[in-house]
Amino acid sequence: MITLDHVSKHFQMGAVTVTALQDVSLQINKGEFVVILGPSGSGKTTLLNMLSALDTPSSGKICINGIDITSASRTDHFKFRRETIGFIFQAFNLFPSLTALENVQFAVDMRGNHHPKNGAAQQVLTQVGLGERVRHFPHELSGGEQQRVAIARALAMGNPVLLADEPTGELDFRTGIQILQLLEEQALNGKTVLVVTHNREISRVADRVIELSSGQIVRDGLPQGGKAAISDLHW
Ligand code: ADP
Ligand code: MG
Repeated sequence: MITLDHVSKHFQMGAVTVTALQDVSLQINKGEFVVILGPSGSGKTTLLNMLSALDTPSSGKICINGIDITSASRTDHFKFRRETIGFIFQAFNLFPSLTALENVQFAVDMRGNHHPKNGAAQQVLTQVGLGERVRHFPHELSGGEQQRVAIARALAMGNPVLLADEPTGELDFRTGIQILQLLEEQALNGKTVLVVTHNREISRVADRVIELSSGQIVRDGLPQGGKAAISDLHW
């Protein structure tokens, strides 16, 4: 479970203070599929950076699976990221000289001895629908396939929380929706999944939409008009 308690984040830019998050409190349960929706500059990335302990709040407290990450040490943060968080980026961030399999294997190796090595990378790639593409290099894969490799890499870490920052930003709408469905499946399998997007239409497939505006939560609940099926979306 993820709990934010009155979290604010300010950046000092010379004489100007930029407030990226203002008094954000929320609770996200295990297995939830949450979309964080908001326009550019509304604080979405700042929120994900706080949740992955890549940055610390100016005030307030964040607990993830019982760990208070706001009072933890840098060493604890490192361990926390390695064991709790799987991060998926807008630009995929694959190693261009490694095959799909090697990109995933790299993550499995990073996980050390906690995870069985043999076949794990192949298995997660099959799970995301790329079983036949494992020997391809990133440039030989479509954008949607590259994002699947990135998801497989996050899954291979075996961590309970998946954070995805605009994972569909580089993809056409239809491919983006398929990626969202894949992420939703992970939530159905018990992972906690948070997806950031600025695209309201895409947010309609979520179980829960947390909407940010100028660093504040302005709405939290079911998508407007209820949760939509993929066939209901417009592109
Ligand atoms: P989003 O991801 O929703 O586009 P961000 O979280 O990146 O929004 O940014 C929220 C606000 O905080 C913006 O006004 C942005 O300019 C500011 N901001 C984010 N990171 C920094 C930083 N490292 N230094 C100064 N200002 C920042
Ligand atoms: Mg952002």
